[in-house]
Amino acid sequence: MKLLVIIQCEDVVKRCSGFLCMNDFYERLGKFEGYPDDTRYMTITCGGCCGNLLTPKLENLGMRLRKAGLAKEDVIIHFASCVCSDNSHRLPCPFMNRMKALLNRKGFNNIVLGTHVSKKAEEKRQAGIYKKWE
Ligand code: SF4
Ligand code: SF4
Repeated sequence: MKLLVIIQCEDVVKRCSGFLCMNDFYERLGKFEGYPDDTRYMTITCGGCCGNLLTPKLENLGMRLRKAGLAKEDVIIHFASCVCSDNSHRLPCPFMNRMKALLNRKGFNNIVLGTHVSKKAEEKRQAGIYKKWE
């Protein structure tokens, strides 16, 4: 059984309910294609710039996983599209690499870039208005 953890941008979720990320997960759209039916799902935010507050959140998650008998190897971290892509909210997060390093330090090594894929944003990427996915 896999646990999927979406990390959302603290700033963007002040304006976004996260509905599209949730919906795409259950519909297996966007970056969620192919996950087995029994995959679990949760979201956290980065905690704000520069991502330092991810560390205590990841320590808490690690402790909860241990108590639940789950392994970090079974956790897949998705950076939400509002964190890692050029999109209508803003440019990609400038602290992405720092947050990836924090995840690795805490033993979370399965990292995927992206969640919901907006059609309009994809069109703007194709037109060169937004940067391509990294
Ligand atoms: S660190 Fe990145 S993802 Fe987090 S609030 Fe700042 S810009 Fe958003
Ligand atoms: S990727 Fe989109 S739906 Fe998901 S949290 Fe970010 S802005 Fe909201």
